[in-house]
Amino acid sequence: MNNEGLLLVVSAPSGCGKDTVISKVLEQLGDKAMLSVSMTTRAMRPGEKEGVNYFYVSVDEFRKHIENGDMLEYATYGSNFYGTPIKPVKDKLKEGKIVILIIEVEGGGNVKKIFPEAKKIFIVPPSMQVLESRLRNRATDSDEAIKERMQIALTELRRAEEYDYIIENSVLEDAVSDVMSIIRAGQLEISKMKNKISEVITNA
Ligand code: 5GP
Repeated sequence: MNNEGLLLVVSAPSGCGKDTVISKVLEQLGDKAMLSVSMTTRAMRPGEKEGVNYFYVSVDEFRKHIENGDMLEYATYGSNFYGTPIKPVKDKLKEGKIVILIIEVEGGGNVKKIFPEAKKIFIVPPSMQVLESRLRNRATDSDEAIKERMQIALTELRRAEEYDYIIENSVLEDAVSDVMSIIRAGQLEISKMKNKISEVITNA
C-alpha cells in the first residue's frame, strides 16, 4: 500500500449500531486506522468524554471554525451542529492510515467534494421497528427526541442510494466483516497498488 491512506465515510440512522460495528472494526485494524473525532454543539451525554466522543463547543465557536475553513464538512442534526475537523483527517491520510468518519448523510454528501476517492458506507437496520426499540432501550433520549430521530432516520434512509455500499446490521459479526471487506477492496484498488506494480517491474 502506498502512503495515501483510505477514507471511509460511515452513515446510519441513529440507533442502528454503527458505533458498535465501527468499534469492532477499529479493534481489528489497531493502529492502521483512526476514528475522526467530530466537533459538536450538542450537550455531552452521560459517559461521554471531551476529545474522545466529541469536541464539545458553543455555537459561536463552531461558527468560527467554519469561517476559518477548519471543517471538512458539517451539518445540523436536530438542533445541533456537527462537523469534522479537516486537519487530523489530512494528516492521518498522509501517514497512510485508514480514516473513518461516522457522520450523518448531509455532511456525508459533502466529503467527496474534497476527497472524491472516499468510500461511503450506509448501514441499515433490519427494520424501523428494530430501530425504534434500540433507541428506546438506549434510554438516553426523551420521547420527543426519539420521535425526532425516527423522523430523521426515514429521511436518511431515502438518501442511502448516494452511498457506495449498503450493509445491514442484523448480525454484528457479519456487518463487521462486510466493512473489513470494503476496506480490503479499497486497499487493493489500482490507485493504491501502483507502487507494488512498479516494484515488481523494477525488480524483474
Ligand atoms: P449523536 O448526537 O447521536 O452523537 O449524533 C447524531 C448524528 O450526528 C449521528 O448520525 C452522527 O453520525 C452524526 N455526526 C457525528 N459527528 C458528525 C460530523 O462530524 N459531521 C456530520 N455531518 N455528522 C456527524
